[in-house]
Amino acid sequence: MWLALRWSGENQKMMYDYRCTECNTEITIERSIHDEPRSPSCFDCHIEMVRKFDAPSIQFKGGGFYVNGG
Ligand SMILES: [Zn+2]
Repeated sequence: MWLALRWSGENQKMMYDYRCTECNTEITIERSIHDEPRSPSCFDCHIEMVRKFDAPSIQFKGGGFYVNGG
């Protein structure tokens, strides 16, 4: 049995959280899912901000997420 997923892309918006690694300023940018998410620059530091999700300092809490290096 198939579920027909209706993907009305025109109105789909994604919220992207960015953080400046220098001053820790955080901003949220709303984009269409069809747009290429490009990193904005910090207004103060003039460096490229990083996606909070991609930030290396992020920690997944709750456990159960292991990598078994072979
Ligand atoms: Zn900054």
